[in-house]
Amino acid sequence: MGWLLLVLQNPYPNLYMMVTVKDKSFKLFIDEQEIASRVAELGARISQDYEGKRPLFIPVLNGSFMFAADLLKNISVDCEVTFVKVASYEAMETKGQVEEILGLEKDLKDRHIVVVEDIVDTGITMTEILRNIRVFHPASVEIATMFLKPDALRRELSLKYVGKEIANKFVVGYGLDYDGYGRNLRSVYQLHESENS
Ligand code: 5GP
Repeated sequence: MGWLLLVLQNPYPNLYMMVTVKDKSFKLFIDEQEIASRVAELGARISQDYEGKRPLFIPVLNGSFMFAADLLKNISVDCEVTFVKVASYEAMETKGQVEEILGLEKDLKDRHIVVVEDIVDTGITMTEILRNIRVFHPASVEIATMFLKPDALRRELSLKYVGKEIANKFVVGYGLDYDGYGRNLRSVYQLHESENS
């Protein structure tokens, strides 16, 4: 009958059990109520840990825009925010992938930095971001990620603030995209099993 018949709309606006993002179907995985409570918990912990430290939050675009906005609304200490973007390209000489951090304009020396990410998967992107930040000799650097896929992690990272650990399956929504689409969804959706192959 096809998944279309399974599209059910809850009494909550914008909460769907199944969604189509571009050309694939995804099922509800984490609803916005759970996201909101996890973000509030993270915000409270970070606010407590950074009391009197005037942290600088560095959210990584594009994926973290929604998480960053919600997290920062839950930060009660005096703080600054500056967004960065990771540009990934093939290096001509080494034929390897090079990650360049765009938008690092603030003076990071002696600052207490919290990098804000949507999801840590292999950890390769975050490792590169940290390497780029540490050359400016900040006072401290911690990571706040909404999601972590522990089974996919390939780098040693100290992840102090994690919203939720999830299985190693592709998800969209709450800032996360599938081929550019789906970032606007308020909840997080997981790729439907039949689409995984
Ligand atoms: P990593 O370098 O840790 O392997 O990957 C980090 C980036 O991969 C994330 O910032 C995100 O853009 C992308 N990514 C990893 N897993 C997922 C996923 O399940 N869904 C989406 N939409 N992006 C993902």
